[in-house]
Amino acid sequence: MNLAELTMAEFEAGLARTRTAIVPFGSVEEHGLHLPLGTDTFQIVEVARRAALEVPVFVAPPLHYGYCRSTRDHPGTLSLSPETVRRVAFDVGESLYRHGVRGLILASGHAGGLHMSALEEAGERLVEAFAESEVAVVCEYRWAQEEGLAGVVETGDDGHAGEIETSRILALDRALVKGTSPEEYPRLPRPFVARHKRPCWPGGVWGDPGKATPEKGEVLFTRCVARMVALVREMEARIAPA
Ligand SMILES: [Zn+2]
Repeated sequence: MNLAELTMAEFEAGLARTRTAIVPFGSVEEHGLHLPLGTDTFQIVEVARRAALEVPVFVAPPLHYGYCRSTRDHPGTLSLSPETVRRVAFDVGESLYRHGVRGLILASGHAGGLHMSALEEAGERLVEAFAESEVAVVCEYRWAQEEGLAGVVETGDDGHAGEIETSRILALDRALVKGTSPEEYPRLPRPFVARHKRPCWPGGVWGDPGKATPEKGEVLFTRCVARMVALVREMEARIAPA
């Protein structure tokens, strides 16, 4: 159930079918020369949408912004602070709880480490604040990586705007993919903190988008949707009946 399209009455009636909500988190972030800035949001919204076709679950409107660190200097990346991500996740979770939702799935299409930490911190605070709440924090992009490495993609180290994401956006809407970008891997000077990020990976790609196909993207969507459906069912089993 797409929460934004429900009426008040439909939302209330929906609580009899499910008390679980997926809140998708994306980003506005460069994805090479060939993928749109909304790539992370598009993927997680699609996974949540398809999951909701298979199992009763509320899908809240996505947060289109996330915390982006290593891409922050690339053109078009618009970042929140981790603090803002945490507060938005907490506030949305609190509101959903107030209205009867007990299972909350914070699902991110953006995989930044500190971005995910902010969501996990929100989850910690939510379970502490609301006695009947169950919270799951998911980096859905990691699912895609795990499934990709299980015989779907050829790139061993595929991280950003590479074979996985390009394949999934091709599967979603070929018109969103504007050609391709060269294979590239970031050269971050770890353990040093790079003051200037863009020279570390000028093309903004981590992996090889040239190996992407819509067929691979569809397989990845199917597998990740199955994982999301299983998680919703697991959540419903954990939360106390109304
Ligand atoms: Zn991405």
